Amino acid sequence: MNLARFPRIRLGHLPTPLEPMENLSRHLAGPDGGPNLWIKRDDCTGLSTGGNKTRKLEYLMADALAQGADTVITQGATQSNHARQTAAAAAKLGLACHILLEDRTGYTDDAYAQSGNVLLDRLHGASIARFPGGTDMQAQMESMAAELRQAGRKPYVIPGGGSNAVGALGYVNAALELVAQAAEIGLRVDHVVHATGSSGTQAGLVAGLVALNSGIPVLGIGVRAPREKQEANVLALAEKVATHLGLPGIVKAEHVVANCDYVGQGYGLPTEGMVAAVTLLAEKEGILLDPVYSGKGMAGLIDLVRKGHFKKGENVVFVHTGGAVGLFAYPDALGVATDKADA
Ligand SMILES: *Cc1c(COP(=O)(O)O)cnc(C)c1O
Repeated sequence: MNLARFPRIRLGHLPTPLEPMENLSRHLAGPDGGPNLWIKRDDCTGLSTGGNKTRKLEYLMADALAQGADTVITQGATQSNHARQTAAAAAKLGLACHILLEDRTGYTDDAYAQSGNVLLDRLHGASIARFPGGTDMQAQMESMAAELRQAGRKPYVIPGGGSNAVGALGYVNAALELVAQAAEIGLRVDHVVHATGSSGTQAGLVAGLVALNSGIPVLGIGVRAPREKQEANVLALAEKVATHLGLPGIVKAEHVVANCDYVGQGYGLPTEGMVAAVTLLAEKEGILLDPVYSGKGMAGLIDLVRKGHFKKGENVVFVHTGGAVGLFAYPDALGVATDKADA
């Protein structure tokens, strides 16, 4: 595998730190001990507060520039972290940015509709258009691109979450980074766990870890789709990524595992487990998770540790995919305990 042959623009602060979570590990350990929990700080990629989309955008934006684009179009949920990081990358590279936001939660309060990621989208100078839940967002992007072409612009369409074979290269790169980092500090990584949504993160990690013959299994904690659909989406994309890398056929169905038991009522809708996980990490580790992805991913990890899913002494790396900006969009779900404590 030779990643350097793919065009890339440096946007992130890489490598991101790989840190032990000693307090959390101790807190969750039973009387006989438990796994050692580590965290890969992809929330610290730097671009507009950081997050996992920055790694994907290093390859997507390079592709956009290679194609002569002067404008990028992308889409996501109202509080899309992907949209925010794309707006920042476009700003840095001098491209116009159009963001199409789909209302997937039905929340209309100001915090959700205007603050958090939406505030930052605007600060980066992106235009925002809103659509009701269930809109065919890919079709909307294509029609906007056609209009812009008519007007003489050169738009580049980035799929939701930046999840295609080009964007997922960012997580192939993350797999290389993690394996090298772990080797340097003598850490045997037994499991990688992270929140999985539009699939690019897991597909890239799986393709990269398999290509390296690392033997490290990846567990995606789903935030939207049911398990079968999520695994099918990740597998299909991981196969494309492997082919793009010149290694067709290396990713097998057994390499792709998702657990979608922690979604709750739906995408972007708070769960008790998420609130507990966000609170616990803030209090025990001084780390900010997010309500939509890493909070639910960590809720899954915590529950699986408590159920004895991981063996004592195993090293489990949670990839923190970012998103803490979204905390400000959920004051009611997260603020209640604080108000009570203050009163
Ligand atoms: C987009 C996102 C994810 C999910 O990554 P995918 O590549 O879409 O599966 C996880 N966490 C955060 C904070 C995200 O913004």
